[in-house]
Amino acid sequence: MRTFTQHTTQSTDWSLQQSADLYRIPAWGKGYFGINDLGHLTVHPKQDAPPPSLPPSSISPSVAAPSSAAIDLKELIDQLRSRDIHTPILLRFTDLLRERLAEIASAFQTAITENDYQSNYCAVYPVKVNQQRHVVEEVLGFCKQHNFGIEAGSKPELLAVLALVTDNDTPIICNGFKDDAFIEAVILASKIGRNIIPVVEKLSELRLIIRCAKKHNVRPRIGVRVKLATTAASKWEDSGGMRSKFGLFISELLDAIEILRSENMLDCLQLLHSHIGSQLSDSAQIKRAVNELARVYCELHKSGASMQLLDVGGGFGVDYDGSQSTAHSSINYTPQEYANNIIFHIKEACDAAQVPHPTIISESGRAMVAYSSVLVFDILGWSGFKRFPLPEATPKNLEDLIKPVQTLYETFAEINTDNYIEYYHDAQMNRDEALSLFNLGYGSLQERGLAEKLFFGICSKVLTIVKTLPDMPEEFANLEAMLADTYFINGSVFQSLPDSWAIEQMFPIAPIHRLDQEPTCRGKLVDITCDSDGRIEKFIDATGTKDVLELHTLTDDPYYIAVFLVGAYQEILGDLHNLFGDTNAVHVSLDDNNQVSIDEVVEGDTVSEVLRYVQYEPEELRRNMRRIIEQSIKNKKLTVNEGKALRLFYEQGLAGTTYLNPDSNT
Ligand SMILES: *Cc1c(COP(=O)(O)O)cnc(C)c1O
Repeated sequence: MRTFTQHTTQSTDWSLQQSADLYRIPAWGKGYFGINDLGHLTVHPKQDAPPPSLPPSSISPSVAAPSSAAIDLKELIDQLRSRDIHTPILLRFTDLLRERLAEIASAFQTAITENDYQSNYCAVYPVKVNQQRHVVEEVLGFCKQHNFGIEAGSKPELLAVLALVTDNDTPIICNGFKDDAFIEAVILASKIGRNIIPVVEKLSELRLIIRCAKKHNVRPRIGVRVKLATTAASKWEDSGGMRSKFGLFISELLDAIEILRSENMLDCLQLLHSHIGSQLSDSAQIKRAVNELARVYCELHKSGASMQLLDVGGGFGVDYDGSQSTAHSSINYTPQEYANNIIFHIKEACDAAQVPHPTIISESGRAMVAYSSVLVFDILGWSGFKRFPLPEATPKNLEDLIKPVQTLYETFAEINTDNYIEYYHDAQMNRDEALSLFNLGYGSLQERGLAEKLFFGICSKVLTIVKTLPDMPEEFANLEAMLADTYFINGSVFQSLPDSWAIEQMFPIAPIHRLDQEPTCRGKLVDITCDSDGRIEKFIDATGTKDVLELHTLTDDPYYIAVFLVGAYQEILGDLHNLFGDTNAVHVSLDDNNQVSIDEVVEGDTVSEVLRYVQYEPEELRRNMRRIIEQSIKNKKLTVNEGKALRLFYEQGLAGTTYLNPDSNT
């Protein structure tokens, strides 16, 4: 394996390789992300280029630029900033999306060839993963290239999809609970020739489909979703198994066959579907589920239905933490293994039952889009005890201070590797005593401040000591988290990373620049909502998770960090907590000459838009504000100029973004 070369222009001996290892970029980046010679994070969407985890410096610069086809994230953010497009920004990399779809298609193609599978594979994009029009249009475009399709799980999704798919080839799968209107839309779409298949989730839907098909004289293709006995240990395990809210029990499936047979419509039943959950971590569970599903398929075929399609649902996961394990944020298989497992087990079951091989469908939403989006935040500031200067020498008035503070001074000066456990316990006691004295009216605020500073100083020394030990004593396990700096991100976890808050989903996070410098701080991230849950305190690590993220000291220049692999679910699950709206989203691609091209800027929500969403009328607010200002001018509380300034602030505020704009401070 080739490694990063040492970067020599920095005074520290920190190397790009160290940054790559620290943030585990090769592990989760799968070659799509790397670091360049400037210490900037890069995106490498074209996998036919040289291995992107190599910095261009390892090749001669003139060769590196065109062939490695990298997008420099820091440079991109600077470019956008100079166009007045500010962070937080969601970057969508069109080429990464295309690349991922191609990778999935090629994995299945390889598996089909190697297993001599006698039919084909078709992925469908479940729009619920990200319904943003720009995203769906791009996905659809790439899907067409591979004869892939699309999946809608609700009436609004179906209505969007029906207007976007204008050909009769693209498969459209309709899952989710359906009413008369939903089914009628599907049947009429069949009538105009669309390749659309409603999947029966409950038996009552089958009766609606039959009635509607007769009314419009259509012979629809029909699918059924079955509840499998196999469940998957994932955060979504209730999606599958007998307790799943969707799908037919096997006994109901038998009823469905009889109903269709009696209506002379058994030939309409063509697809069998199941979805056992999202982000399936363990390939063993996938094998079990696919095997069970394939067995049901064969039996349906034998019962006389014109079975053609076997839909294995979603669940194809993403290795967010790069551990290639069965951890919730990881997966223990590659795309090729995923494809091999599915193709092999379906072929095996069908061959044993002498049933022709079906076209295999997978609804792999997460696996298609997760990689393609990167969320970039600016850091608004930081806080943490390490920002206070520690007392360097014993003060002259030591004798005048309350006793516990005097002792803390001594402990701070004398703590070492031999005595640290005892001294740490003493320090805890003295800090508590200083606090009690203060509460009883002895001791000043200054003394309390000194006790705080000294205690943190002692903890910091203890941390330095325990980190050199082979095993961290249990007692000190929380020390690092306690001493962490707080970095304030200009953004909302609730809006942009809802799964981080709701289900403790891990995402890779790293600064997008200064990777040639050692990150000397240890921080947690907190957002600008007023909710104490709006924070990120767990970060990916080689062994599980860590409580702090290595970050750089802040300077006068902006500091940007990015959250990766956020293309699936985060946008649409995000909410308006504290009325922070959608961030700006920017579509970026590489043109034929590998020049970065900013293709589309989807502006984030304005304050007016989010206020309207909660039923305020911005025009009315503006008028009220104007009245209040006029009144205040009349009462001489504001000058005319001050009134004008306040009105301007208010109106610009309504029209502006919901996030902070540090550039406006200058
Ligand atoms: C959510 C869902 C999917 C998508 O699952 P991924 O794990 O994102 O691939 C597919 N099918 C159904 C029925 C779903 O509900």
